[in-house]
Amino acid sequence: MSQFHLSRRSFLGATAGFIALHPFSAHAATNQAHLRIMETTDLHVHVFPYDYYGDRAVDTVGLARTASLINNIRAEATNAMLIDNGDFLQGNPMGDYIAYERGMKEGDMHPIITAMNAVGYDAATIGNHEFNYGIDFLMKAMAGAKFPTVLANIALEKGATPRDDKTLFKPYSILEREITDGAGEKHMIKIGVIGFTPPQVMNWDRRFLEGNVKARDIVETAKAWVPQMKEEGADLIIALSHSGIGEANHEDGMENASVPLAAVEGIDAVMTGHHHRVFPSSAYDGIAGVDTTAGTIHGKPAAMGGFWGSHMGLIDLMLERSGNEWKIVSHTSEARPISKRNEDRSYTALVDSDAAVLASVQKEHDETLAYVRRAVGKTDAPLHSYFALVADDPSVQIVSIAQMWYIEQMLKGTEHEGLPILSAAAPFKAGGRGGPEYYTDVPEGDVAIKNVSDLYLYPNTARAVLVTGAEVKDWLERSAGMFNQVTAGQADQVLLNPSFPSYNFDVIDGVSYQIDLSQPNRFDTDGEVINPDANRIVNLTFNGAPVDPEAKFIIATNNYRASGGGSFPGAMGDSIVFEGPDTNRDVIVRYIVEKGTISPRADNNWTFAPLTGTSVLFDTGPKAADYVDDVDGVNIEPAGDGPDGFARFRIQL
Ligand code: MN
Ligand code: MG
Repeated sequence: MSQFHLSRRSFLGATAGFIALHPFSAHAATNQAHLRIMETTDLHVHVFPYDYYGDRAVDTVGLARTASLINNIRAEATNAMLIDNGDFLQGNPMGDYIAYERGMKEGDMHPIITAMNAVGYDAATIGNHEFNYGIDFLMKAMAGAKFPTVLANIALEKGATPRDDKTLFKPYSILEREITDGAGEKHMIKIGVIGFTPPQVMNWDRRFLEGNVKARDIVETAKAWVPQMKEEGADLIIALSHSGIGEANHEDGMENASVPLAAVEGIDAVMTGHHHRVFPSSAYDGIAGVDTTAGTIHGKPAAMGGFWGSHMGLIDLMLERSGNEWKIVSHTSEARPISKRNEDRSYTALVDSDAAVLASVQKEHDETLAYVRRAVGKTDAPLHSYFALVADDPSVQIVSIAQMWYIEQMLKGTEHEGLPILSAAAPFKAGGRGGPEYYTDVPEGDVAIKNVSDLYLYPNTARAVLVTGAEVKDWLERSAGMFNQVTAGQADQVLLNPSFPSYNFDVIDGVSYQIDLSQPNRFDTDGEVINPDANRIVNLTFNGAPVDPEAKFIIATNNYRASGGGSFPGAMGDSIVFEGPDTNRDVIVRYIVEKGTISPRADNNWTFAPLTGTSVLFDTGPKAADYVDDVDGVNIEPAGDGPDGFARFRIQL
């Protein structure tokens, strides 16, 4: 038996108006008790309010900040418990530093576990990302936790039913706690916590899990274990669902199963995660079984606390005791943020960092800073984006290569294994409104982790889509809207359309093609077809042969594009065949760490089609002059100064 971290003092002496008590605390009567269940989720090793890729402090992340929200609740002196919903071991350079550099020997503490111990948790479950560095690493990390870890649907050996499984972690835990009622009397309560992770881990981390563990469906597993928890006397059962809020209909093996899970008889409340969103919030309006106003799923209280420590999920329960049983008589749900977004897009911190939590991992924080600043690999070619809009480019090529490498591994053993894999990537930092310095520029030689944020600006996640050859061509036609139409035989025409964002200029690697600038655009800047007969993409080939419009291809890309961002043909959200749990940035880091030296040389798989006697002008950063002689496949010469500090160049088509 243990007590809550701060058992409730009598609040009868508190003067109303000075302490903003939750109404349940204010109104709890004899035989009623106010229980608060706090949640963190998807911490991804964020303890300090720090962006290690950008190498700068930020106010939007960090368990040290969330800990202050938690401390505030505890200071209100109600019955409170704290759980974590998984995805804490991986996801920022501190996690990579421990996994790739320092290692986890027997008895080593993982810094996120050290920090979580400092905050004080009652229980945690395991997210999909806990498996990213293998089972041995995971078990060594969890050995340091001063709280129970529960996970019901991953088994070392499967039995005839889930209850016969030999599970990797305890499937559930019954926490015996002393709870103080409205009259100040103490009672015992047994709170059952049971954990779930997406069964898709078997695919996502196949290389570590295949042959070692097996996964079960979340809902099937819950239905088996919850009655046993009841038999053991659980007064309340809280599902720790590292699974998103998705379809109401249960489908075997579904990834986002929190809605059908909430419907399982005996489960009283659901803590969710995995989606990196907030519940309750309008993000989940209109989903069957979900009430974002009441904060419920199937009528049961639920919460999701954002990600990276951005929020604390909070479920408040008013419990009533009759005989020997506790039941929930009312409840509220919320998610409390650590920062607020201002109108000018800046953020203001709403809490300070908890000094003890920071101090607990100060050493590993300092080591991580050194890690992101020093070389982890080498590039044998400069990585810059000065010419990324006019020629095949190494800074885009490296993203493509890493995405292809990753998607090929992920599709192994699936029905799509063996299909040709192409890769789409766009230059994110390419001048424009960002100014003449706003380019990727990593010199030949050492590559540090902090450089990767320069190569991949957005925290997108990896996706694969299944498309036809015709869609590959239309995808490129859409991209070609980057360029103005030019008139053959004329000199010094303006090449780039300034209203077309560079992140929509996808280059597709794995095929070869030319762009005929004398043709009009097939699509406008919003992706609407305006010239259905126009063909800017010419000589499109795969393995040296013309692309068959009926042929099937996989394109490796990101969640933004795959789900309809930019309205690209073949990428309208209905063609996704693989949803990666990994960020494209993580994919690039893994690729560099695994390869050691990378050779991001552009392969010139695309060029402008020749137009005799025709030239165009474009502006880029002045540093481009250092590299202008190295660009293959295109004839570039300096043409003076552009406006606002840009340099101007001419291409003879
Ligand atoms: Mn996550
Ligand atoms: Mg290329």
